Amino acid sequence: MSTKEAVEARYAEICDALGIASRPTLKLVPELEQFSRRLAGVYVARHHTLTLPASDEPNDFVIVHELCHSVAARTIGYRGSHGAPYLALLHLACLHYFPSYNGTIIELTVSGEWPLLVPRRWREREIEAARQVANLVQTECEGAERPSIESLAERVKHYFPERVDGHMSMLGRWRDRAMTQKGVWMGYWCVFATALTLILTYCARWLPSASFRGELIVRVSCFWAGSVTCVLMISAVQNLLNKVGDAKRRLRGIFKRS
Ligand SMILES: [Zn+2]
Repeated sequence: MSTKEAVEARYAEICDALGIASRPTLKLVPELEQFSRRLAGVYVARHHTLTLPASDEPNDFVIVHELCHSVAARTIGYRGSHGAPYLALLHLACLHYFPSYNGTIIELTVSGEWPLLVPRRWREREIEAARQVANLVQTECEGAERPSIESLAERVKHYFPERVDGHMSMLGRWRDRAMTQKGVWMGYWCVFATALTLILTYCARWLPSASFRGELIVRVSCFWAGSVTCVLMISAVQNLLNKVGDAKRRLRGIFKRS
């Protein structure tokens, strides 16, 4: 069996085991990157697709991680990324489907997926909320047959009325994504810098002093160019680190064979 067939077969098995009624379309691609950051998998709610790298061996945790994004978006109505509703669902899915699960997926996901700059207070609040809700749902499910992931999601949804579709403002959704998903802030920062530059340049026409107007436009243009350059540089460094990592792996493979 090829790696691609093995991933497809494992994906189908896990969807059946979790009881997912509407499974995302599986897409296998040669490489998966976002802002030069290597990704193990990605779920896109708009197209209801789950993309995995075709070259990697099937990884149950990656598949369950991405399927939880799908169920969180469709059943809970949570449009953020790795915030408390998602973390509670992921923890419950691991509890019910991985007998050897050691109970640390919430902390591992926050440390692995969130940007480093997010304040500790925010991290602790989300971890605590996810743990509390997961414990409540777990108590509700005691004695029941192994529940489907969608029924777990329905219960999680009940505890996060303010985080679901229709109750979360667009600003709240953007903030959630920027705080709980690495790399997203770079895209937001470019959009923000461009919008601010255009607004200030447009408003400069009402300034009475021509020299001050010229100076403002120069400063604003420098701010925009600096912002975009920073994002490009971070992306380039990340890309370089990926290439160094690939080269190291290849070298290790050569020495192992010889
Ligand atoms: Zn994720």
